Amino acid sequence: MIVRTRFAPSPTGYLHLGGARTALFSWAYARHFGGTFILRIEDTDLERSTPEAVEAILQGMDWLGLSHDEGPFYQMQRMDRYREVVAQMLAAGTAYYCYSSQEEVEAMRERLRTAGEKPRYDGTWRPEAGKILPAIPGGRKPVVRFKNPQDGDVSWDDVVKGTITISNREMDDLVIARPDGTPTYNFCVVIDDWDMQITHVIRGDDHVNNTPRQINILKALGATLPLYGHVPMILGADGEKLSKRHGAVSVMDYPAQGYLPEAMLNYLARLGWSHGDDEVFSIEQFCAWFDLDHLSKSPAQFNPEKLAWLNNHYIKLADNARLEGLVKPLMEKDGADFVNAPDLQAVIGLMKERVNTTNELADAAMLFYRTPEPTADLLVQHLNELSRPALQDFAMRCQAVDWKKEALSAMLKEVLAAHKLKMPQMAMPLRLLLTGQLHTPSIDAVIALFGRETVLARMAKYI
Ligand code: GLU
Repeated sequence: MIVRTRFAPSPTGYLHLGGARTALFSWAYARHFGGTFILRIEDTDLERSTPEAVEAILQGMDWLGLSHDEGPFYQMQRMDRYREVVAQMLAAGTAYYCYSSQEEVEAMRERLRTAGEKPRYDGTWRPEAGKILPAIPGGRKPVVRFKNPQDGDVSWDDVVKGTITISNREMDDLVIARPDGTPTYNFCVVIDDWDMQITHVIRGDDHVNNTPRQINILKALGATLPLYGHVPMILGADGEKLSKRHGAVSVMDYPAQGYLPEAMLNYLARLGWSHGDDEVFSIEQFCAWFDLDHLSKSPAQFNPEKLAWLNNHYIKLADNARLEGLVKPLMEKDGADFVNAPDLQAVIGLMKERVNTTNELADAAMLFYRTPEPTADLLVQHLNELSRPALQDFAMRCQAVDWKKEALSAMLKEVLAAHKLKMPQMAMPLRLLLTGQLHTPSIDAVIALFGRETVLARMAKYI
């Protein structure tokens, strides 16, 4: 069997974390088996679907690198096909016209409800052998209903939830086409999964109620059933449904905040799936492992701290040239002056250990690209009778020293010894003069990066 999976978002908003996680699982499963991953845009809800949302979903998938092999298919472009199958089902007797008005259906539901039964369509227009149907009311356009089996059960082995069984008695004769002939949601999904020969449907468990209806229609069509896996929702740390309160829920907010896609992928992979104690793994490793085992039955909880921790990990691994491409535009916006300034990739190499996002990296790197403005208070505090002569000595020796971190560090120690000072007594004023701040990476590294001329010029202003 060739594995064929799909991601089938409704373009009614951005790609959210839950959607991205199901997309990742479907994609990785196809990759694991060398199968085919299909992208399908379920845009039949004309009021809620927008081209902007389609664009946002495509961008999100692209950023994550979840490439599709077929599609994107748009349901709105497949209307003729759905109508064709509706006609075939009417001809085959697996669907029928129903002329009950909406008010009548509501009234029959209400009757059943008061009788303590499950509210559903009572089958007035359902053709049966020997049954005489009512006279067709004039001027009323019918809906098309699926002739759901009345007895027996629908049962499937859900890859995540185990066996689920629903009695057919619980189920309505589903409307598959509206009075204007447009097909309904569940019907389109069924026809698409059938036509696209989907072998594994992995989706959020908010769809679990649709599955028995979809299975019955697939069976009526003589289609091979896919395997279903319904993954539980993602909740906030407080156990509530994930929402803006818990941090960004749109995938594309994350690149904007300075997250790397590999961190997001690694993070999403662990939301509802595990492989022993493994927390940090590449996407290739994930694809090699992911076979739909070890999917969790209980909802995963979104933990922004863990995502930030993973992002820090991947920033440390990332190539400095790549990081430069991400941070430089932000720094330019922030007024960074790159003329006669340290090499940005070298600065990134020094700063990336300590940041959780590339936006933080851009902020941190600014230390080297703006004119220092030490406050008068700090200058008084750190430029005193003890540090001044040592700083003068240091500036003198700077003229000749080999401008390498190790040599600078050795020279700094000599100055400290000669003036009987401790490291902070020199390092603090030097930080202040060179960067305007007291918090920087190790002072010898900072001095080495700035270069001789800048160091001497910045010291000369105050010494
Ligand atoms: N379009 C549905 C959604 O966005 C998914 C349908 C499916 O996966 O079957 O929730």
